[in-house]
Amino acid sequence: MTYPENVNKKSVQQEWDSAAACAGKKEGASGLDKDIQWYDHICDNYEEAEEFITQHDSGWYDQLAVKYRTYPELSSKKMTDMKNRLEKAKARLDELNGFHFANAKSQYVGCKKCGSKLSLRYMKSNYCPLCKADLRPESKLASIKSVEDKIYKLALDIGKEERLLEKKSKAKSTVQWLVKVEYHS
Ligand SMILES: [Zn+2]
Repeated sequence: MTYPENVNKKSVQQEWDSAAACAGKKEGASGLDKDIQWYDHICDNYEEAEEFITQHDSGWYDQLAVKYRTYPELSSKKMTDMKNRLEKAKARLDELNGFHFANAKSQYVGCKKCGSKLSLRYMKSNYCPLCKADLRPESKLASIKSVEDKIYKLALDIGKEERLLEKKSKAKSTVQWLVKVEYHS
């Protein structure tokens, strides 16, 4: 169970004592076998708190509590904008990288590297089947390069913004208690 940092520890104890008494009525239980042990230690996150409790648990009806941090999910308009722009740029790159000669008016394309004259009727790729040279015109390759540069820069900026948001998130973290109780039923 989780509780806010400033929870009334006595009332949590009472809550679980009654639960245990109720569950173990037939066996004459009057509450938890042991009192909850409240560790004054703050774990970095929920998983760490679970780990902490597992390590401190003797396995014999231990009642344990430890503090841990929770972080708000932070987002910014800048981040949303950049992610949208990245998606668009990626879609544009896919489009640019499609088969360039799909709607070509000529029947043939010449390979500047090996000098082959290739029939577009049988071509499915932008590369020369003989020498693997890129057959697309310079202007097309330049557009592709420019979109790739844009994607690279956006990815860097998104990474920077993410780290900034993480920092803010840490500053705005709140502390909660993770309480583990165990009783017969
Ligand atoms: Zn070639």
